[in-house]
Amino acid sequence: MRSRDHDRIYLSPPHLGRHELNYVHKAFEDNWIAPTGPNITGFEQDVCQYTGAAYAVALASGTAAIHLGLILLGVEPGDDVLCSSFTFVATANPIVYQGATPVFVDSEPNTWNMCPVRLREAIEDRIRVGKKPKALILVHLYGTPAQLHELLNIAAEFEIPVLEDAAEALGSHYADRPLGTFGAVGVFSFNGNKILTTSSGGMLVTNRQDWAQQALFLATQAKDQAPYYQHSTTGYNYRLSNILAGIGRGQMELLEDRVKKRREIYAWYKEKLREVSAISFGPHEPVGSRSNRWLTTILLDANQTSATPEQVRQHLESRNIEARPLWKPLHQQPLFASSPTYGGAVCNDLFMRGLCLPSGSSMTEDDLQRVVDALREVVL
Ligand SMILES: *Cc1c(COP(=O)(O)O)cnc(C)c1O
Repeated sequence: MRSRDHDRIYLSPPHLGRHELNYVHKAFEDNWIAPTGPNITGFEQDVCQYTGAAYAVALASGTAAIHLGLILLGVEPGDDVLCSSFTFVATANPIVYQGATPVFVDSEPNTWNMCPVRLREAIEDRIRVGKKPKALILVHLYGTPAQLHELLNIAAEFEIPVLEDAAEALGSHYADRPLGTFGAVGVFSFNGNKILTTSSGGMLVTNRQDWAQQALFLATQAKDQAPYYQHSTTGYNYRLSNILAGIGRGQMELLEDRVKKRREIYAWYKEKLREVSAISFGPHEPVGSRSNRWLTTILLDANQTSATPEQVRQHLESRNIEARPLWKPLHQQPLFASSPTYGGAVCNDLFMRGLCLPSGSSMTEDDLQRVVDALREVVL
């Protein structure tokens, strides 16, 4: 069976190194297939060491980590939770799992992340109608840091706790500090297309020991301290397996390399497409920050090319190259038709004009050249 088309250039395929299998083998040798095991502890320590977070809890997915994070922040049925509109649906789904309502906030055009002006407007308006938001989920889209200084100041002013969705942003920094450590809770994803992958997996980080313990308790079916199976809280089966954590340990060794390569890919595209005036690059890094450049994203200027992002995508597809639209804003999703939204024009415009280019860290210069050649054929 041909499991993968070798001519195809994928958007962001897994990129394994040489050590992942050693950790997985060790798990087999020691019969640590389940339930937990040393790879889990090791993987958590690796993430703590890299990010500087005091505690990390390895979970089955980033989505699970967001869900538990919202529980730790006290989100309950009927609450409102502020959330970036311009993101993947997994950011907001856990709000709904909790029976709460997402309140969407538009982006600003520099980082493409949550707009501080809109955030303040949203909070003041929600307070005016008597519903102060219970929590704020901040996303660092495509690995680019949000305007954290401004956003965190507003959250602090109104005493609204922040959950940082850094699912796409492992390895990114703001003010010399890794993303994921600015909120009360931070979340990373190790899904198949992320900068590092365990095939499927996530991590919750926090500086509060009681929260880390509570997250672990909830992730493992919320068993009370008793000799028999007793439960007084609803729990979940959200723990990562020791096998997958082994992959994570091998991957964590490679993080700096992977960030370097993704940043090089971004710079390479930018350089090679410099004179194609219809194409511009974004989002922009806030001063003093570093994006991991998880995906290279471009915007098309309709005044300079008649090609739409969808036409460009289809042309690349005809050359066996996978590109994808930017995330469709959540306030435009049928699923969230009744959710309150503040602004929306900025992320609508980005969605209409944008495209994600292949950005996998295993790409060769020939691959990159193929993408650039195909883009030049269609963006005239
Ligand atoms: C991937 C992703 C998630 C969800 O992570 P999973 O591990 O796939 O559950 C959440 N938020 C954003 C922004 C993501 O890109």
